[in-house]
Amino acid sequence: MNPSASPRPGLREVGPYDSPQLEVAARLNTNECPLPLPVGFSDDLADAVRELPLNRYPDGQMRALREALAARTGHGIGGVWTANGSNEILTQLLMAYGGTGRRAALFEPTYLLHRRLCWLTQTEIAEHLLDPPFEIDDGAIAWAGTSGADVAFVCSPNNPTGNVQPIDAIRSLASGSDALVIVDEAYVEFGGETALPLVAEHPNIAVVRTFSKAFALAGARIGYVLSSPEVVEDLQRVRLPYHLSALTQAAGLTALRHADEAAAGLDAIRTERDRIDRALSQIDGVTVFPSQANFVLFQPPGDAKELWHGLLDRGVLVRDLTDVVPNGLRVTAGTTHEVDLFLKALEEVLR
Ligand SMILES: *Cc1c(COP(=O)(O)O)cnc(C)c1O
Repeated sequence: MNPSASPRPGLREVGPYDSPQLEVAARLNTNECPLPLPVGFSDDLADAVRELPLNRYPDGQMRALREALAARTGHGIGGVWTANGSNEILTQLLMAYGGTGRRAALFEPTYLLHRRLCWLTQTEIAEHLLDPPFEIDDGAIAWAGTSGADVAFVCSPNNPTGNVQPIDAIRSLASGSDALVIVDEAYVEFGGETALPLVAEHPNIAVVRTFSKAFALAGARIGYVLSSPEVVEDLQRVRLPYHLSALTQAAGLTALRHADEAAAGLDAIRTERDRIDRALSQIDGVTVFPSQANFVLFQPPGDAKELWHGLLDRGVLVRDLTDVVPNGLRVTAGTTHEVDLFLKALEEVLR
């Protein structure tokens, strides 16, 4: 037999990064938006797609989409950049500012993908464990200053804990060094304050956002970054040619035309989030972490993995985060019906 190809050292020690995608009554494990897209969105998108010259490469500078984002955010177009989901934005940022011989600071517990992308781009990791309420405090800032990091990740509101990071902490991280401070604001539309106003004074801050959560467009794969023009110029050096398809650019533009309608639906999700928080708080032995996002992290009284299975048996899929937060489960704020199913199943399993 011929020898099989030998991959990069360590590659086969890691598995693919996935969350289960199961057909269940209540899929509450990936923080998607449960609301339908705004009325007229699909027709507008279909019209836009019909007009696309798909025999040509798309606009590699994504001008129309970046202009629309600049108009919506009030940020100069030179500091706006888009890609296939914020995950690709984060990858491009690490390709430009991380890499071999470079180091990224992580405040744990946080979004698992940050660590994963460091591995992918061969960026060394320095980590600091935060205790509840998981805020980046003076000690954490002092640690970052001595960590030798070239990149620092902040996630606010933080996934999976739901808390917001103080703007002052982000400012201190950015002024304390020339590291690139990446602020992942995937959930900012649900609560908390944006770090965007800091960018004007701190060109080493990159605010990263997504259409996957509040815009209800996880399937379209669109993310963007708001930073200084220098950072965007550096991303131009690492991007693939024409990385964002004409179809995706059209979807992003159409979504921005309907952005106000999409935002109007978010109150309903916050209401469900707060209902989950209240219901969980009333159960003996449950620890609930206050959330400003569209999900709630909690620790059940018994074994979280057993509860996870019990919920799944009843058609409710939540996120098992026991690898990240001891005995932690995370539930997405879905529709009223989905949340009812979750609370009913929870009561049955815990009884
Ligand atoms: C869901 C999520 C994202 C979104 O990634 P996309 O690639 O834009 O879908 C980014 N960051 C965090 C912290 C998330 O939870």
